[in-house]
Amino acid sequence: MVAATDSFRFRLRGMTGLVIRNLEDEHLSFESLLGRTPPGNPEATLAMSYSCCFVQFAGRNVLIDAGLDARQVEGCLGGIGIAPAAVSDVLITHGDRDHVLGLMREDGSAAYPGAQCVLHRELWEGWASGAIVLRDEASRLPAALEARVRLVTGGDRPLDGVEVIDAPGHGVGHLAFAMESEDQTLLHVGDALLHTVFVEYPEEEIPAEDDSRRAAETRIRLLSLAAKRGALVAGSHFPFPGLGQVERSAVGFRWLPLEQAQ
Ligand SMILES: [Zn+2]
Repeated sequence: MVAATDSFRFRLRGMTGLVIRNLEDEHLSFESLLGRTPPGNPEATLAMSYSCCFVQFAGRNVLIDAGLDARQVEGCLGGIGIAPAAVSDVLITHGDRDHVLGLMREDGSAAYPGAQCVLHRELWEGWASGAIVLRDEASRLPAALEARVRLVTGGDRPLDGVEVIDAPGHGVGHLAFAMESEDQTLLHVGDALLHTVFVEYPEEEIPAEDDSRRAAETRIRLLSLAAKRGALVAGSHFPFPGLGQVERSAVGFRWLPLEQAQ
């Protein structure tokens, strides 16, 4: 069980944030993720965390993904004085269970009753039509959310300072979100970059992705954007707390975890 205190606070100018760990870390071999060992001798074992992220800026209380368990995320938000009803927006990167089940309480009601729920039009239509099968308790998600969904595609700005970025490849309707606060950007990439190790190997095609070639193209595009903007980058499964910057290197890109980032 993950402790309610298992979270990490961060700041940008005009923005405060909290990364919330949702599950214990998993430890995977690079080979198990990629099917082979790429050149350059990467780390043998990868620590993968499971997190969602909360940010306060421009008068909004914004959750990026909702984790697996609403009560656990609520506990962490309560630790910084945020009640569920005070969450104004939930931005959904994609529909995997570890990102969306926490949108709902055990009784099937919405966990954040005052929040608009921003998600890709394709994902919502897939859920609503049954083209994407929602199993077990997840089958109640559309009913819990339908009154408050805000359907978006790349380039939309569902609220001031938030740009929606199409990030296809990992799963249906995968999105990244760029949040601009004063002159700084927080770029949340969800699972478009499954691990920081892929910052150095963005072109690798990972079998677990829905469309591994498009996923590789997306990684390169997001990394270029992150480097150009000097963004603080957050990823759902990066080693906790999963924050850092990307810079260009002689051969591609390099990851600078938060303590090394400027
Ligand atoms: Zn995930």
